Amino acid sequence: MLSLALLACTNKQIRMEDECVYTPEKTTFSFWSNEAEQMEVLIYDETDSQMGETISLQKGENDFWTATVKGDQAGKYYTVRSFRNGEWGLESPGIFAKAVSVNGQYAAIIDLKATNPEGWENDVRPAMPDPTDIVVYETHVRDYTMANPAIEHKGKFLGMAEEPSIKHLQELGITHLQILPMFDYGSIDETTLERNRYNWGYDPVNYNVPEGGYSTNPADPACRIREAKQMIQALHAAGIRVVMDVVYNHTYDANGCALGRVVPNYFYRMNEDGTFANGSGCGNETASDHEMMRQFMIESVCYWAREYHIDGFRFDLMGIHDQETMNAIRAALDEIDPTILTYGEGWAAMSPAYPYDSLAMKRWTYKMPRVGAFSDDIRNALIGSPFDHERGFASGNAACREALMNGLIACPEWSGEPMQHVSYITCHDNYCLRDRIEVSASEETEETKLRMNKLAQTAVLVSQGMTFIYGGEELFRTKMGIDNSYQSPDSINIIPWENKVAYADLFDYYRQMIAIRRAHKGFRLGSAEAVAAHVEFLPLMENENEHLIVYRIKDLEGIDNAKSLVVLLNGGAEQVEFPVPEADYTVLAHDAQADVNGLGQISAGWVVVEPYSTTILAEN
Ligand code: CA
Repeated sequence: MLSLALLACTNKQIRMEDECVYTPEKTTFSFWSNEAEQMEVLIYDETDSQMGETISLQKGENDFWTATVKGDQAGKYYTVRSFRNGEWGLESPGIFAKAVSVNGQYAAIIDLKATNPEGWENDVRPAMPDPTDIVVYETHVRDYTMANPAIEHKGKFLGMAEEPSIKHLQELGITHLQILPMFDYGSIDETTLERNRYNWGYDPVNYNVPEGGYSTNPADPACRIREAKQMIQALHAAGIRVVMDVVYNHTYDANGCALGRVVPNYFYRMNEDGTFANGSGCGNETASDHEMMRQFMIESVCYWAREYHIDGFRFDLMGIHDQETMNAIRAALDEIDPTILTYGEGWAAMSPAYPYDSLAMKRWTYKMPRVGAFSDDIRNALIGSPFDHERGFASGNAACREALMNGLIACPEWSGEPMQHVSYITCHDNYCLRDRIEVSASEETEETKLRMNKLAQTAVLVSQGMTFIYGGEELFRTKMGIDNSYQSPDSINIIPWENKVAYADLFDYYRQMIAIRRAHKGFRLGSAEAVAAHVEFLPLMENENEHLIVYRIKDLEGIDNAKSLVVLLNGGAEQVEFPVPEADYTVLAHDAQADVNGLGQISAGWVVVEPYSTTILAEN
């Protein structure tokens, strides 16, 4: 696996990312195709030119077709096409275009160095001491920027880089910002942005170029690149790492897009009847098990990590990819920086056309060291499954108690190490937290629903896995009961900034809980061995309230400034009492309030835990 990664990232002879290499003296082209009988590049002065200048490519080693064009070609555009079975195929920008025209139709020849914002050479990844210290905040460029009156560049990368955007993340205390697809996707027409359409962006067109709709000028190929870098630079300067949501599992359309035009069918899994396999539920699924698709994915993530200084990758429908590919990606990123994160959805939408035992499914996470998977286990245990409207532990369902206890210790049966267990309750998919509690516990008062909200997020933030929060939950966002808002209008998807005042108590609670996690290593012991050694669940007495979990992290001398931590989670409507081990404690959370500096002191004895809330004690 390591040898493949090294080959992919260091052997210049066969790099897929060298499709177009610019210098002021010459531009060289190199395209891979194992099927073409002829290939040519067409060079255009303008994107509305009738016909490009045709350059024939020569077939060289390893099915790479190459040509060199002398002189300074910057500012021109190109496409590539291949000849097979007696005819020329359709033109495309190639599979590894690094700059494109509006809507990604033509590749652009540019000097990438000229896209670097001022000071880019000094941009460094913020420090990251340990993966379980991570608190990821997921958002979409439009969700986050459209409704904030203090932001000038609404819906743009530059808006994410503005001071009010960054300040909120710093106040909250998160470590990583995960951005919904920011590569060039197809569902938004970049020439009619003023029509205010919205899409999540899970429909890749050009994998290695930022989305034009998030730039201030999609018609200028350098603009989107520069502005994406400016966003990353500003976040890095604020101490926040940036995770990119990558969607290699399918493309917008199959043989209509560059992958299919360059080599029809090769990059996809096919059914026996010649139709496209569809594990993604989006019409096709890519074939990471095919050598050059695997190499494409490896080179693509390495390119984003090197050229854009991206700090992590969240793999959409990772269960469609094979384990060997994920391990090869991990090895290749380690060559750049081992602190770059890798995690994803350890499932597929439908059955992929590949042996289950070899896929990067959640169940096999332990076979992919330092590649994480979202834990639907802890999610479902806390708030209920997205496939029904049942309650979870945090909304009063005691039947989820055992499952939640397992989630708190990062589900060792599949995760391998705690960092490979992404603890979360909500993300862009399915209901946001407020709506989920609303559909499953509608008859409760708003006060109770807020208590359930805090309880659920608290369980995530005291769990031993890597933690993840959906942006806007801290401001009590609602999507008006829409559980799939991928193309809903801004009015549904925006983060409601006015709630920072209206629900200041909720925001402060999230902020304090993140601070409590970050202040106490006991909540992020970091290894399965340490979790097994230090975590215990205190048994309930006979006939005791099954809505209570008592999660204790003990023997923390030398690990944490607390000697032990006791977390009492009450997922029921009744107050409960429990005898904690004798000691002096600082109360960090109680009765839906939290304070990293302590709400007060108590000594041994019976602790009261209020309905739908968490009491957290740190032993002095
Ligand atoms: Ca686009």
